[in-house]
Amino acid sequence: MASGRFRVLRSRPCSGHSGFHFPTVTITQLMATSVSTKAAKALSLITPSGPVRKLSLPALAAPKFRQLSRVIVPTNTSDGAGVALKRSIGGSKISELDPFLLLDEFKSDDPKDYEAGFPEHPHRGFETVTLMLHGNFKHEDSKGNTGYLTSGGVQWMTAGKGVQHSETPMQADGLMWGFQLWVNLPAAKKMQEPRYQDINADQIPTVELDNGTTFRLIAGEVGEDVVGPVNGVSIKPTLLDVSLPAGNSFEYPIPDGHTLFLYTIEGKLEVTDGLRVDPSRLVIFSPEGNAFQVKTGTESPARFLVVSGAPIKEPIARHGPFVMNTREEILQCFADIYSGRF
Ligand code: MN
Repeated sequence: MASGRFRVLRSRPCSGHSGFHFPTVTITQLMATSVSTKAAKALSLITPSGPVRKLSLPALAAPKFRQLSRVIVPTNTSDGAGVALKRSIGGSKISELDPFLLLDEFKSDDPKDYEAGFPEHPHRGFETVTLMLHGNFKHEDSKGNTGYLTSGGVQWMTAGKGVQHSETPMQADGLMWGFQLWVNLPAAKKMQEPRYQDINADQIPTVELDNGTTFRLIAGEVGEDVVGPVNGVSIKPTLLDVSLPAGNSFEYPIPDGHTLFLYTIEGKLEVTDGLRVDPSRLVIFSPEGNAFQVKTGTESPARFLVVSGAPIKEPIARHGPFVMNTREEILQCFADIYSGRF
């Protein structure tokens, strides 16, 4: 996904989705029918998940909460062969948030917004993380790897020295809702062998706290025995999908100095005293502090992503789907792809 409008290097006609016929996957409608008129309405989308672990978070020792830095309204754009996106990181408002290079949200129940998919395109020098809240994609690459992304699943692809792949919707209609995040690699890892972590929803533990808050633990750990399935990533990521009930607060530890942002999915989230933000907002916190705290009002719950990782602090040279350290390395990407070394 997010091929960066990379068109010039495609070696085959860019027929993308239209040149193939994939079977249509029947989508189970997971939209809860909440007819409650009470103040604390339920979240609308139930995402499949793995085993539930009920626990209390360890008390934060001497918490120093992060300060709100910026709230960004994403820009509507499109990428691939014409997939509608909301781009927050990697767009006109913020080019990168070290170590994160791009964040796109795609959400539509109109197949015209997603059916074209992302025909074959390359990546080098970073990782692409695709997180599906609802919907189905098929992934295929030039090395013969195939994978399926279904509702609640995550693909963590370490492109390393390079793959050419396509990302194709596997549904003819219904809701397609998810995210793609680009994560940088340090110079020493940019030319590593490509690696895939294809994670189904049932492999992602759900942590349920005493106050009814739940979160899907995709990357990171809680205590010693609840560990998210993503492993071996350079930036030591934390990736949570949090559902916070109405009239509640959520405090969570994040290593001091790690970059931290939230992305709001549903409901109003109070991200600092008196400031409640709408869904589809990028919420950036200052790097200083060892925890963050957010709240919900009594009128509605909220759902949001928590994303953090260690900054890499190296020069960035990027062009479309290539992210390296120097201009020369970008030129080498072009030379390598033209000579078939992807
Ligand atoms: Mn891609």
